[in-house]
Amino acid sequence: MTDSATDMREFHWLMDMLATIEVGLVLLDEEHRIQVWNAFMEHHSGRSASSLHGQSLFNAFPELPREWLERKTAMVRQLNTRAFSCWEQRPYLFPFPNGRPITGTEPWMYQNITFCPLTGSDGQVSHVCLLVYDVSDAATNRRQLEQANAQLSHLSRTDQLTGLLNRGTWEALLAHEYERHSRYQGKGSLVMFDIDHFKQVNDNYGHQAGDEILRELSRRVLDLLRQSDIAGRYGGEEFALILPETDAGGAAVFAERLRQAVADTPFTVAKQQLSCSISLGTCPWSEDLPDYACWLARADQALYASKHQGRNRCTPWSSLLDQSRD
Ligand code: GH3
Ligand code: MG
Ligand code: MG
Repeated sequence: MTDSATDMREFHWLMDMLATIEVGLVLLDEEHRIQVWNAFMEHHSGRSASSLHGQSLFNAFPELPREWLERKTAMVRQLNTRAFSCWEQRPYLFPFPNGRPITGTEPWMYQNITFCPLTGSDGQVSHVCLLVYDVSDAATNRRQLEQANAQLSHLSRTDQLTGLLNRGTWEALLAHEYERHSRYQGKGSLVMFDIDHFKQVNDNYGHQAGDEILRELSRRVLDLLRQSDIAGRYGGEEFALILPETDAGGAAVFAERLRQAVADTPFTVAKQQLSCSISLGTCPWSEDLPDYACWLARADQALYASKHQGRNRCTPWSSLLDQSRD
């Protein structure tokens, strides 16, 4: 066999291989006219190479991001270097349907694209070749992992029964709020409250009824709070709130409103009306607080003063000082 016959045979092998690889191959001339459109591209676009050959890519696919593509190919030509586009920056270039639709994932094929310069005999870049990789599996896995992580992180921050922040998260935010005040002063208050005689509710109506009250109570709290307030379930039936930008007077007004929202409206549990009350303690931030734990302890002391004085009431921490002075 002559050399040229061998060359031709190898050329055809090469073309066969390029036509059948599981990677999209598009060859564009300097006017972005399609010169090669391999089987992968035919299969996913539903457009045959013969119908596209010589056509401008942008006429054939007007939905493509023309400006971005022109900038990419111009750079590849000028610098005679490869360029890449990753699915994380641009999920896809060619809007091909996803061949493996999995519930909940996007309907298109995620793509990584490589742009390769091809030089002519004069050493100038005459064509740009686009390699289109289907990375839907990897992208879908990554997306699902990210969603699962976000869910886990949410779950690890919140209390499952009430949806409020759990104790650890709430305390971390309290520490942060305390540090912020230590640096910039300003107003801020804590409210702690505990359901009165909750053990009796459980004993008389069952644990599930108790759980339903905890959920409904949390909804009432959230209804009264501002967006910037931070509500946590501190213990079993004990709750803690951070009210930023709220002084002692504001905290007292809020606490009284919350007390009424619980005491004045019975809870409907298993078609029964149950009356409940809460005892509250409030404490504003002040400069003499050595740490956040002390801030919390003062609000807790005020709460327990409410309990001792008969429950279903609000006590500001400052009133404990007045009593100790009397
Ligand atoms: P006090 O007015 O002094 O606060 O009386 P209390 O009965 O509420 O106080 P105590 O601390 O003796 O009881 C708290 C009760 O809260 C006991 C516990 O079974 C109940 N409890 C704690 N966590 C949950 C929960 O997640 N669900 C239910 N249903 N009950 C809970
Ligand atoms: Mg209680
Ligand atoms: Mg308690």
